[in-house]
Amino acid sequence: MGKSTGFLEYERTESEHRPARERIRDYEEFVVAPQVEALRIQGARCMDCGVPYCHAGFVVEGLSIGCPLCNLIPEINDLVYRGEYEEAYKRLSKTHPFPEFTSRVCPALCEGSCTLGEHALPVTIKEIERFVSDEMLRRGLIRPRPPLLRTGKRAAVVGSGPSGLACAELLNRLGNSVTVFERADRPGGLLMYGIPNMKLDKALVLSRVALLEEEGVQFVLSTEVGGDYPAPALMKDFDAVVLCAGATQERLIDAPGSELAGVETAVRFLSAATKGLLDGKRDAGAPNAAGKDVIVVGGGDTGTDCVATSIRQGAGSVAQLEILPKPPEKRTDGNPWPLWPKVHKTDYGQQEAIALFGTDPREYLTTVKEITGANGRVNGVKTVQVEWVNRNGKQAPREIAGTERLRPAQLVLTAMGFTGPERMLIERLDLKTDSRGNVATEGDSHKSSLLSVFAAGDVRRGPGLVVWGIAEGRRVARRCDEYLNAK
Ligand SMILES: Cc1cc2nc3c(=O)[nH]c(=O)nc-3n(C[C@H](O)[C@H](O)[C@H](O)COP(=O)(O)OP(=O)(O)OC[C@H]3O[C@@H](n4cnc5c(N)ncnc54)[C@H](O)[C@@H]3O)c2cc1C
Ligand code: SF4
Repeated sequence: MGKSTGFLEYERTESEHRPARERIRDYEEFVVAPQVEALRIQGARCMDCGVPYCHAGFVVEGLSIGCPLCNLIPEINDLVYRGEYEEAYKRLSKTHPFPEFTSRVCPALCEGSCTLGEHALPVTIKEIERFVSDEMLRRGLIRPRPPLLRTGKRAAVVGSGPSGLACAELLNRLGNSVTVFERADRPGGLLMYGIPNMKLDKALVLSRVALLEEEGVQFVLSTEVGGDYPAPALMKDFDAVVLCAGATQERLIDAPGSELAGVETAVRFLSAATKGLLDGKRDAGAPNAAGKDVIVVGGGDTGTDCVATSIRQGAGSVAQLEILPKPPEKRTDGNPWPLWPKVHKTDYGQQEAIALFGTDPREYLTTVKEITGANGRVNGVKTVQVEWVNRNGKQAPREIAGTERLRPAQLVLTAMGFTGPERMLIERLDLKTDSRGNVATEGDSHKSSLLSVFAAGDVRRGPGLVVWGIAEGRRVARRCDEYLNAK
């Protein structure tokens, strides 16, 4: 522990964000890189409390406690306080292959469980992680580490999202020859075509993939396994297969008019925006918010990304509908520390809408009753307010009569989450699924119902977080390696 009285002397300070009105003119990252002295002070605030829930990494009643990767957080904080950044990176790398991703996009489950957070504001663990990884990148110290020996075993990883990349990284490091198949034209899964560039610069994803290639991982892009590359060939060509195909089936809106042109899913909208940015040209058929009244259905983080992207494309107005009530400002008794705090926050997209339009775009307890249109195109959304009532022992929304409202809309973006993995590959491999439609695995073994086929990430756990994807990818790599090299 660097400074025993640090938590008494120093307050939490956070990195600045670029001013909202300036950053909406581009797609560059909006968080300004944290300053080293401020971070050393944050490192000094760590109490080295003895029972550090911040790195516990378990789930209670569906809520995470601490970092799923079990990062050695108190040690890293201490090393940063002492100015030993290289050593801090070595500690970080023991548990975490891609800190440059999570230190930008993770909701920081660790901070929700920081012991200091019980009485004061938690240590800025995520920003310390970002500083350590960015500093090593800046110094050119993140170099390829190819394995010294090869096992002669071949493994295929289907999907190049965080779980696929993490699995490929470790399986390859353990000496296996790894090929990653990705149906998109660029690798990264939702890191590439989901999370917008202003949260995670795509150059970081591509440079990590380039590093993996230098270490020996092969990437086969624009190839759908089960389609372009048939499932039987996959089973024949590889000694083991790891499915990291995500839970990419988006929940669609269930209201009259949902078939109209101009009603788009969030991921199609966001991925088209990123593809246009990276290709340097916009696909004429891609959804675009320029000059339109946009209604985003869904008040979560994906909805926020849609708000921010619509604003950057020049939307005329943006509203964000959420069927749930506004969360409380502070933890409730039912959501105590060290559980992840379910509290109200105003994220970057809402801050930008407030700066541009003067109001928070979110409307709670509001849902879509009907989508109206003319000549096959959307021109409005009829909304209605709801209240939550007990129906057969379960909370359910009930419309409040007389609260209908017709609003103009030329683009409706549905950001209502995901229903689970796509069926095609699961059916072609004839895999068993669980009650939620995810690939069923034997406990934590990551083994599917088919010998030599493993599963990890959202395809196994259901829609989650990048950090969970990486944690799952590392675990499945170990299980798959045990299977491949048991003898
Ligand atoms: C818009 C959006 C924003 C998000 N923002 C955040 C955030 O800020 N922070 C956070 O922690 N989490 C965020 N998430 C969630 C997070 O991105 C996911 O939980 C995570 O990416 C899941 O990782 P994965 O590797 O399991 O799957 P994915 O990232 O979904 O990757 C699966 C990959 O498999 C490929 N694939 C599927 N089927 C096949 C096939 N048959 N053949 C070849 N390839 C195939 C897909 O093309 C895809 O690239 C966000 C999600 C969305 C949709
Ligand atoms: S990966 Fe996320 S939860 Fe883990 S230490 Fe980093 S910010 Fe915290």
